[in-house]
Amino acid sequence: MQSLWSPSTDLAPARPGIEDRLAEMITIPTVSAHRETSGLGVFEEFLELLARQYPLIHQHLEVERIGELGVVFTWPTAGPSAAAPVVLMAHFDVVPTTGQEEEWTYPPFEGRIVDGVVWGRGALDDKGSLVTLLDAVENLLAEGWAPGREVLLCLGGDEEVHGRAARAIAETLKERGVRPSFVLDEGGAITTLPFPGLSGWFAMIGLAEKGVMAVRLSTTGAGGHASAPSGLTAVGRIARAVARLNHNPFRLRMPRTVRQLFARLADHAEQPYAGIYRAAASAPAVTSRLLPLLGADGEVMVRTSLAATMISGGSAPNVLPSDASAMLNLRVNVGESCDQVITKLRTVIDDAEVSIEIVEADEPTPEAAVDVAAWQQLTDAVAAAYPGVATLPYLTTAATDGRHWHRFTPNVYRFSPLAMDAEQRASIHAANERVSVDALVRGERFYRALLLGL
Ligand SMILES: [Zn+2]
Repeated sequence: MQSLWSPSTDLAPARPGIEDRLAEMITIPTVSAHRETSGLGVFEEFLELLARQYPLIHQHLEVERIGELGVVFTWPTAGPSAAAPVVLMAHFDVVPTTGQEEEWTYPPFEGRIVDGVVWGRGALDDKGSLVTLLDAVENLLAEGWAPGREVLLCLGGDEEVHGRAARAIAETLKERGVRPSFVLDEGGAITTLPFPGLSGWFAMIGLAEKGVMAVRLSTTGAGGHASAPSGLTAVGRIARAVARLNHNPFRLRMPRTVRQLFARLADHAEQPYAGIYRAAASAPAVTSRLLPLLGADGEVMVRTSLAATMISGGSAPNVLPSDASAMLNLRVNVGESCDQVITKLRTVIDDAEVSIEIVEADEPTPEAAVDVAAWQQLTDAVAAAYPGVATLPYLTTAATDGRHWHRFTPNVYRFSPLAMDAEQRASIHAANERVSVDALVRGERFYRALLLGL
């Protein structure tokens, strides 16, 4: 893959071999979904690899294990400092490749480097970010540099399953009185945009993330022989509840972040789109009605989404079911609450025989600010690593570990400093996940510039 950006000259060249370090990280299959069966061995092996790859970090930073899979590196300041610390996060677990093996061009855990591209599970999510972060810190340590404020590197080993490590880290540090000036985690990238009138690459930094809920609908029936049904069976009742929900989508509402995105898109789009984006930003009620017309990508930014993911019930073809249930997966819009979702479900289903049980509920996060020093520092670091690339705010629609901080720290940003096109974005959690060596080199520059600019 060829570099699309001219090299930045204001940062000195870094330690070579970042792609080899990532490739080696990929060879250790830290699949958190398999932890129950595989044990902690691969995770320990991975942390031992980090100790070998980053000797200066392990020498100069304080290392602490929190819970089974949380690691915090504390980088002390050069002298006394009253400035609030900064938290930089990444996770070292990956999702499985089960069922995709045939689709991979190169085996997912070999860490193959071909024509300037590193292939393998975790290349983008999230070992790619991790390697750029740790390389940046190691390089600064090699130069003898120390930060003017405390820097905490918080790594989790179970983000892809439940993020307990990140939650434990956030809670532990909170109890110790740590109040970061900002937190940076994965969730955005350097990428192309699906909106018309815009060409080139943009740094998309997530300011907020939607909530996640898993809800079980269930009901019971009288049972009996299927030749004599009376009214709806349990299966019919659950099917009707799901159908009602599908026909009554959640209300449209544009979060502040999406409005800020459109306002800034206007500055970069060609006409007539620039005018359209400007109008979109100033008329959120109209825009939130138009966005779903762009497809699922547009709709998820302005609405709580609902997907029925599992359904079960009954025991035999000719027996009336004595019970039935369905699982719903909901992504709660920023600005709304899990309580509101449950109220809406109850109203729409409108059936006292269907019980609604919350299996999991994580509220949507608040929205981070763009008129603060942290945003400017992020924007400047993007410019140092990817000259000419504009930074835009956006809404992260998938869950990240960053949410565990957002409950008590307003400024949580979600961004991996890696360039990825639409095809690469689609490879996250799928086959042929890969990152260009150029993106890794620039990602390291991003973190180095960010740290130097604090
Ligand atoms: Zn991830």
